Amino acid sequence: MNPPEYKFCPRCAARFDEKVIKDGEPERLVCPNCGFVFYQGPKLVAGALFEMDGGIVLTQRAIEPGYGLWTYPGGFVERGERAETAAEREALEETGVVVEVTGLIGIYSYDGQIPAIASFAANVVGGELAPLDETMDVKVFPKDELPWSDIAFPSTVDALKDYLRGI
Ligand SMILES: [Zn+2]
Repeated sequence: MNPPEYKFCPRCAARFDEKVIKDGEPERLVCPNCGFVFYQGPKLVAGALFEMDGGIVLTQRAIEPGYGLWTYPGGFVERGERAETAAEREALEETGVVVEVTGLIGIYSYDGQIPAIASFAANVVGGELAPLDETMDVKVFPKDELPWSDIAFPSTVDALKDYLRGI
């Protein structure tokens, strides 16, 4: 197994042991001092896929991973935040557009990848399109002219295909 990402207990700073707690489950980081078990779950990302003027709004990323490549607005769901709210918040932060989630397109997760992506369809209800937070450019792409060779993530490709299939 890979070396653990975390070495010390966040509660008491003792060095973690790696232990199988339950047969058939992966090794966990277990604190031998206070008994804390560090369950490292996936991270949830939420994204909003929406249309303006008959095309799909995509953002060109100004940060890694996927620098310079295209995706729909999205980002990590905050602890205690609804995934739908996160998708709407990210759309506003990255594109200046106020959207309302209308439904789930799909949940996209991949072997060995920590983030799982919840992709929502949304409707525009206000705002003005502009490249904002972490975004180099934002464009409306006609559905038959999507930039397939410059898409940022496999989950973006998969969600776009599922969305187009569902129209
Ligand atoms: Zn501890």
